[in-house]
Amino acid sequence: MRITFLGTGSAMPTGERFQTGILVQEDGRTLLIDCGAGVLQRLQQSGVGYENVSTVLLTHHHLDHVADLLPLMKARWLAGEDHLEIVGPQGTKALVDDLLDVYEYMQDKLEVQVREVVPGEFTVAGFDVSAYETRHSVPCLAYRFGDLFTFSGDSEAFAGLANFAEGSAIFAHDCSFPDDVDVSNHPTPDALGRELAGRELGRVYLTHLYPHTEGRHDEMLESITAHYDGDVRFAEDLQTVSVE
Ligand SMILES: [Zn+2]
Ligand SMILES: [Zn+2]
Repeated sequence: MRITFLGTGSAMPTGERFQTGILVQEDGRTLLIDCGAGVLQRLQQSGVGYENVSTVLLTHHHLDHVADLLPLMKARWLAGEDHLEIVGPQGTKALVDDLLDVYEYMQDKLEVQVREVVPGEFTVAGFDVSAYETRHSVPCLAYRFGDLFTFSGDSEAFAGLANFAEGSAIFAHDCSFPDDVDVSNHPTPDALGRELAGRELGRVYLTHLYPHTEGRHDEMLESITAHYDGDVRFAEDLQTVSVE
């Protein structure tokens, strides 16, 4: 499986990191998780291209996870592609309908199939996926792909999510801010380290990084590794990780 971080930023631009998007590829199957602003550009830069993304799996509906959905639809239509499947938590159908109500000229350009999923097991784009409800300001799902990859979506750090991810070769987790930012709905590095402590994970990648984290990566890592002795790294846009 190849995991490519397309966007490792958040709702406030750093100038370096685009908003959330992760590409998962295995045996000719391709799935895009989240589609924040800039993901369409990163898809093109990744060499995969928007033509090859026919399924998008959404963690939740915040703008920094869905802003490039309509641009993706339009680019696929212009490139001669005829469909897009959008899978996400409850409310995804209403979101897509409402977006297409605003951009009426995009209606009927593509065959758009929308599927809503709940915590549990399902298949998307040929991948067997488990979903788990995170702790965020709106309903949000974390997704796990067998023993290979888990993505937290946006979430506070908590034991249930760490349990859900345990055993994954790669665990990408929201790590929006350094410890001195008073935050809810996202973790602090200290809280994340405490929940990861003692877990069996191959490697943890930190993502969803706000500008507040710039220049503070070392101290954030120290805060996490004060509790957790595993391999923790910062994800970068267009970085690909291969796992088997
Ligand atoms: Zn969010
Ligand atoms: Zn977000």
